[in-house]
Amino acid sequence: MHTAALDFLARDNPRFADWRYYRFDIEPASLEAALGLMAARGFRGVNLTVPHKVLALGIVRDLDPAAQQAGAVNTLLADGPSWRGFNTDGYGLASGIRESLGLDLRGARIVLLGAGGAARGAAVECLRAGCAGIWIVNRTRGNLEALMAQVSTLAGKATLRGLGPDAAGAPGGALIINATSAGLRPDDGAPADLRAFASPAAVYDMIYNPPRTRLLEQAAQLGIPHANGLGMLVHQGAKSLEIWTGVPASLTAPLMGAAAAKALG
Ligand code: NDP
Repeated sequence: MHTAALDFLARDNPRFADWRYYRFDIEPASLEAALGLMAARGFRGVNLTVPHKVLALGIVRDLDPAAQQAGAVNTLLADGPSWRGFNTDGYGLASGIRESLGLDLRGARIVLLGAGGAARGAAVECLRAGCAGIWIVNRTRGNLEALMAQVSTLAGKATLRGLGPDAAGAPGGALIINATSAGLRPDDGAPADLRAFASPAAVYDMIYNPPRTRLLEQAAQLGIPHANGLGMLVHQGAKSLEIWTGVPASLTAPLMGAAAAKALG
């Protein structure tokens, strides 16, 4: 999807003629050395995925507030021999939900499934956006409590509750966001039974491959509006590209979305 966007930009602006987006497999222990080498070789920016999103916190020179609060960096911008860190995942999530479900995080009651890195980023974004509250559902109590402790200082007046795997105590009319990895493999079950929730507003599954998880199948059967996480992937990518190029994400997101959908078949 980045290549599609760069090809498009190069058509009108020779500045982008030699821009390329590459994929590298970097061992966690080599991240610092690899980033040093990339800076020396003139890379403009980098996207990071797990586990580098967290490891980079100790390497990057300055972090934007979203990366600081999420405790994760997914985008780097070259700044001389070092890097500035950003996090566009929260922007991607909010944009993906708005685009595919027509819902805003502001004022929403959020049921968040999961307590890993993606859930932390989602919780931070929902609280930054002014949601009414977040009810976090997770299988392992210790991980749930750790996440609650990490985000509690951002809650302000918003409700912040931790729930067990049966989601007892979840509010009615909530936007349910799946940030667990349950659903990534074809034989995975759903991370929750949607019949446990009173009239959910919608279900957003951050998983996009496979495009239709068990959770989304159940949402369809129950007539609940639903969408997968492809929009999130596309919008975080378009925002990263904006940081590197200065070209607004809204301009490149549609063609990046089309390229991603085509690549995923
Ligand atoms: P982590 O490994 O950090 O967290 C995994 C979470 O899933 C934990 O809360 C874990 O619970 C829970 N979990 C795993 N298996 C099950 C299960 N069978 N039933 C219930 N809960 C389960 O992963 P990440 O946070 O990094 O990623 C989570 C998901 O988000 C992935 O599917 C990833 O693909 C997706 N994602 C999508 C993005 C997008 O752009 N659309 C961006 C980033 C992530 P426990 O604590 O009990 O182990």
